[in-house]
Amino acid sequence: CGIVGYIGQDDTKEILLEGLQKLEYRGYDSAGIATLSEEDVRVFKVKGRIASLREEVDPNVKATLGIGHTRWATHGAPSRDNAHPHQSTSGRFTIVHNGVIENYNEVRKEYLEDVELQSETDTEIIVQLIELLHNKTGETKEAFRQAIELLKGSYAVALIDQQDEETIYVAKNRSPLLVGLGDDFNMVASDSMAALQVTDQFMELMDKEIVIVKRENVEIQKLDGTVVEREPFTAEIDS
Ligand code: GLU
Repeated sequence: CGIVGYIGQDDTKEILLEGLQKLEYRGYDSAGIATLSEEDVRVFKVKGRIASLREEVDPNVKATLGIGHTRWATHGAPSRDNAHPHQSTSGRFTIVHNGVIENYNEVRKEYLEDVELQSETDTEIIVQLIELLHNKTGETKEAFRQAIELLKGSYAVALIDQQDEETIYVAKNRSPLLVGLGDDFNMVASDSMAALQVTDQFMELMDKEIVIVKRENVEIQKLDGTVVEREPFTAEIDS
């Protein structure tokens, strides 16, 4: 299972599909991508292989922002409906997630009784919670931060907001996730392999940091809002 995300100038679907292909070795049962352009989020997902996902993706989609996922099912059978990305009810928020949300039942009972879920995954709880918190706070970063504060378990997540074509929101806890740095683009990936096609500069992330990934820069914050400075490292390419 793995995550990849891209925000830059180029055709995101190709970069995401290539990245997911590089993550195939980690094992998966389904795969998907979401792209965002002109306030239009397109989600493509399949049970099965990246090759099938490639056939599913509309070749006419033009977007320079997107997130992708290979799933190894833990909550809900492998199926198209349970494949990621998952969306909130309004369609505004779209997420990919690796890991297991240990308190997803508690979160659902406490906050999401009225929400009609579209999948059997623990992941959908995260994106529905973010929508609910966004309705309260009116602010995506704050909703994301509050959601991360409430979640227990292991996760690497990447979130996009239909109303914001400049940002991917990222966080991790006990699951791998890196930021890949480019001149006029940035990426996120479970493994540097998924981004080595475009960069060898990476930044490590610590558990429960909130990472705001834009085309021109990346900002890391602690949960309390303190900004964190971190030096990138150069990934070695195995030959
Ligand atoms: N727990 C999530 C699910 O079952 C994510 C699994 C994964 O890491 O791929 O959909």
